[in-house]
Amino acid sequence: MKCTICRGQAALEIRRHNAAFCAPHFLEFFERQVERAVRDQKMFTHENRVLVAVSGGKDSLALWDVLLRLNYRATGLYIHLGIGAYSEESRAKSVAFAQSRGADLIVVDLPQEHGMNVEELARNSGRVSCSACGLSKRYIFNKVAVDQGFDVVATGHNLDDEAAVLMGNLLHWQVEYLVRQAPVLPSTHPRMVRKVKPLYRIAEREAAAYAVLRGIDYIVEECPNSLGARSLLYKEALNMLEAQSPGTKQSLYWGFLEHMRPRLAAVQEGVTLRDCLHCGQPTTGEVCAFCKMTERAAARMRARLVRAQPASSGPPPEETVAAGVPAGDAVDPAAIAGEPIGLPSGPDDRA
Ligand code: AMP
Ligand code: ZN
Ligand code: ZN
Repeated sequence: MKCTICRGQAALEIRRHNAAFCAPHFLEFFERQVERAVRDQKMFTHENRVLVAVSGGKDSLALWDVLLRLNYRATGLYIHLGIGAYSEESRAKSVAFAQSRGADLIVVDLPQEHGMNVEELARNSGRVSCSACGLSKRYIFNKVAVDQGFDVVATGHNLDDEAAVLMGNLLHWQVEYLVRQAPVLPSTHPRMVRKVKPLYRIAEREAAAYAVLRGIDYIVEECPNSLGARSLLYKEALNMLEAQSPGTKQSLYWGFLEHMRPRLAAVQEGVTLRDCLHCGQPTTGEVCAFCKMTERAAARMRARLVRAQPASSGPPPEETVAAGVPAGDAVDPAAIAGEPIGLPSGPDDRA
């Protein structure tokens, strides 16, 4: 197999583009696709401050790497969610990458800031882990960006991710989710930053190839909580279709962007946001979903502590728990990410 451009030995075939590339030309192809996504969708400019949400995985580290190579002002944000060894390793990979590139990385520790890890938050608030996790990530992405003056939050969602989410939304006719599925979610409130997905033109295997060729050491394991998620099933189904008919994922997702997005954009504009009564972050309701979750979880945890407290040993240690779980600090997932919660562990309940 020869490189379409230089006729040298190809490293990767990209069937949906009817092309194959050697390593240097693949890297060029990758950069061009990302640059085009950023420009065509008006995601950000070289003047903007971009907060890149990094999970330690191939997609988000590849995204950060390519944005730095393209001279964008990209700072990383890693959220430590407290998911055992998986979180420890993914944090280590993110920190090591930042150091290797001399780039700034902001680390937010969920258990430290909110008194509970994802599991505890989920258990105490009655949500499944993926839902608590997605909600927390979206809230923190937005809060950090707003508090620290970033113009935009970029995530590493790729073509495979978006096509799988779209497929789930179509199979279940999740119209509300379809309305909000886009590579760019504009800011519709002064305290809600724009959210963008600059890898929407890049397939998952291309992100992996880019990471390997650029010497990026990323965490290979999937999050243990995502095993069995429906999104993985949809990805598998799409991979089967893609193998028989290259370009299926692209035509599904890009076709949606071309034909449906413009019609859906008008519907999206009708949603009004207001300030959460408890934390001031934008929300569609009175109290944002993150405040509701953390407050509910804190109350349950307090109740447990009270039950565990012997009757004679004085008042319940409310302050200890409450201190770890600030009541005012949160965002409505529907409002900030445009992908509402619900459908626990489904493809739509994602950051
Ligand atoms: P996932 O929902 O795990 O598929 O991740 C989708 C995107 O969310 C990733 O590409 C990252 O941009 C971002 N992300 C996931 N986990 C984290 C994390 N722990 N910290 C910061 N960003 C994350
Ligand atoms: Zn070449
Ligand atoms: Zn709130």
